[in-house]
Amino acid sequence: MKISRRKALQITGLGTLVAGLSPLELFSRVLQQDYTTESIRNGVSIFKGRGGTIMWLDGKDGYSVVDTQFPDYAAKLISHLNGLKEKPFKYLINTHHHGDHSAGNIAFKGLVKNVVAHENSKTNQINSAKNKGNENEQLYPDTTFESEWKGKSGKEKITCTYFGAAHTNGDSVIHFENANVAHLGDLLFNRRHPFIDRSAGANIENWIKVLQDIQKHYDKDTQFICGHSGEGHDIKVGKSDIQAGEAYFENLLKIVKSDIAAGKSKEDVLARTEIPGVSWSGDGITRPLTAAYEELTQD
Ligand SMILES: [Zn+2]
Repeated sequence: MKISRRKALQITGLGTLVAGLSPLELFSRVLQQDYTTESIRNGVSIFKGRGGTIMWLDGKDGYSVVDTQFPDYAAKLISHLNGLKEKPFKYLINTHHHGDHSAGNIAFKGLVKNVVAHENSKTNQINSAKNKGNENEQLYPDTTFESEWKGKSGKEKITCTYFGAAHTNGDSVIHFENANVAHLGDLLFNRRHPFIDRSAGANIENWIKVLQDIQKHYDKDTQFICGHSGEGHDIKVGKSDIQAGEAYFENLLKIVKSDIAAGKSKEDVLARTEIPGVSWSGDGITRPLTAAYEELTQD
């Protein structure tokens, strides 16, 4: 098949180039249906491809999308939604700046009316792009907030709430109020060792408080969605799962604190293969141990 880059970009909905891909590669990659979607309730659905879970609202006046994974998957989402019903894109909201949640923003360039995120998320996205030298592959938020932002789409009310530093210093929870579905982003890794990004202001002690506040803030019917989950565990979660996340961090801090008090070196702490009281398995235990050690020994 002969296809021009311009045509490929048009078809895929990608408004800009994806580094290193020929038009045909780009086109065929986007056509590949290696993603799943699931309707949650009241016009709110989720998209699972590669990276943090995407959520969208099919609103009367357009689509509102939470998080964007990577450019190729964002393009898949866009063509999926265009296939359902051609509507404008009203809001694009980022739970936080990490690439597996915001690198796909660029696919919405020229398509979406507003990009919304916490002010620290924007700062972190800019800093991270500067460090990586990929600023021209970013679409930054044009609308930021400090503690809360409210929007509307048809009858649905959208609220973004900032609970404080946790996974980074810029994570917020995106709540579609009538549907009562809330996207936690990476504030919960459901039964999987989490990434704790200290370079972007993460704080474990405060993360525990944030998870407690989230449980108090939303009601018993709220359906939570999280960015990532462990093998065999769902990204649709409830308060008991959030509580399990809280217990995880309490156990993590407890054991690292006692290791430090016992005079163990950082190396000894990182040699741990389990956290007592935590049954979460999988790779990546070194990351939370490192973060906990550094947080507890910082000045
Ligand atoms: Zn993240």
